[in-house]
Amino acid sequence: MTKTEIQTLIDNHPLVSDMIALKEVAWFNPGVTTLEQGLPYVGLTAQDIAAAQARLKRFAPYLCLAFPETQKTGGIIESELVEIPHMRNTLVQRFGQPVNGRLWLKKDSHLPISGSIKARGGIYEVLTHAEKLATEAGLLTPDEDYSKLFSPEFRQFFSGYSIAVGSTGNLGLSIGIMSARIGFRVTVHMSADAREWKKRKLRENGVEVVEYEQDYGVAVEQGRKAAESDPNCFFIDDENSRTLFLGYAVAGGRLKAQFAQQGITVDADHPLFVYLPCGVGGGPGGVAFGLKMAFGDHVHCIFAEPTHSPCMLLGVYTGLHDGISVQDIGIDNLTAADGLAVGRASGFVGRAMERLLDGFYTLSDQTMYDLLGLLNRDEGIRLEPSALAGMPGPARVCTDADYLAARGISDRQMQNATHVVWATGGGMVPEEEMTKYLAQADI
Ligand SMILES: *Cc1c(COP(=O)(O)O)cnc(C)c1O
Repeated sequence: MTKTEIQTLIDNHPLVSDMIALKEVAWFNPGVTTLEQGLPYVGLTAQDIAAAQARLKRFAPYLCLAFPETQKTGGIIESELVEIPHMRNTLVQRFGQPVNGRLWLKKDSHLPISGSIKARGGIYEVLTHAEKLATEAGLLTPDEDYSKLFSPEFRQFFSGYSIAVGSTGNLGLSIGIMSARIGFRVTVHMSADAREWKKRKLRENGVEVVEYEQDYGVAVEQGRKAAESDPNCFFIDDENSRTLFLGYAVAGGRLKAQFAQQGITVDADHPLFVYLPCGVGGGPGGVAFGLKMAFGDHVHCIFAEPTHSPCMLLGVYTGLHDGISVQDIGIDNLTAADGLAVGRASGFVGRAMERLLDGFYTLSDQTMYDLLGLLNRDEGIRLEPSALAGMPGPARVCTDADYLAARGISDRQMQNATHVVWATGGGMVPEEEMTKYLAQADI
């Protein structure tokens, strides 16, 4: 964009000025609607989520064999929900603001197979594709025991097909490991910010890794191109895939069941706030959709992004969606939160979900590092920087009287609030990398 175009954008959307200055900002969405009004724009339904859930159930016996670490949950890939009361006190001290209600951490960081939220969408899409190929070839029917897929014959069958994906790291890890295990040939196109250990782990698992000097957008484009020339190659499109989105959405019903076990109520007098780190948008968008379908208008979803990569905020706030990138307004998209290093948001997710998202905020890399150190110190939980993006959320929400009034949430209701910080990754970070992360925390 030219200087004049950027100035016009700022004139119409004043917050862009603070974004360009890399300030930590918050924007609560004035365009939010009820679920009933917003749902038609998503274009997906409760039945679609139920079908995804059923597919994952069919694959559970296979996953038990292919990844024995999933046996204790019966082949269902799901994370723990833990309360973090010490961290809650620390947040109050750090931000000098009250946090009303209880604070929980959803540990997708410790999901089996790939140690991040991508173990939801990425694995689901690979399995969906495998099921389609095997069914069309007459080798599989939905009522069969899918453990038969764990066999040399099926590996041989799948080796006739390939999968390609572009990634900043964690999606590549999920799709690479899953694809290689089931027998596909798989190529992961990695952006410059992807960590060395993730590339190493993929190569150890028999995945072809192609590295780029540029960011995520370029890696995705190159992956898409490479796949186009091969009719047996399936490209997993992180920017537009409904399948990935549905894999994430299954989390909503699962969280509802975990709440029931913990005796946590969600209703008009007990609001739920969920804070989701956002990169391209598929992960948090899909989870938010699932949460809305599970809890209706009583759940309030808030996206968190690095000050250097606020692509979804920029797209939704200006209404330009994937028609604008952070680079267009002079922001560099360089952040230690590699899972969130995305300059241009998914147009699909932004358009589908903008009416169902309560708000967006940004935070600096240093804030993420500090919170990473504090969570380790106070709760003994270790995450990667991206996964801390949701942590300032409760303080931001609890102190924004205008936002709470606009949503019709009273002080009394806030006392009963449940806050869930979605911890999106970090469970597989090698010790020496984690030591480096912890050294960055200024606490
Ligand atoms: C990918 C990722 C996200 C965000 O997911 P998107 O689908 O890119 O928005 C958040 N945290 C971590 C650790 C991730 O790897």
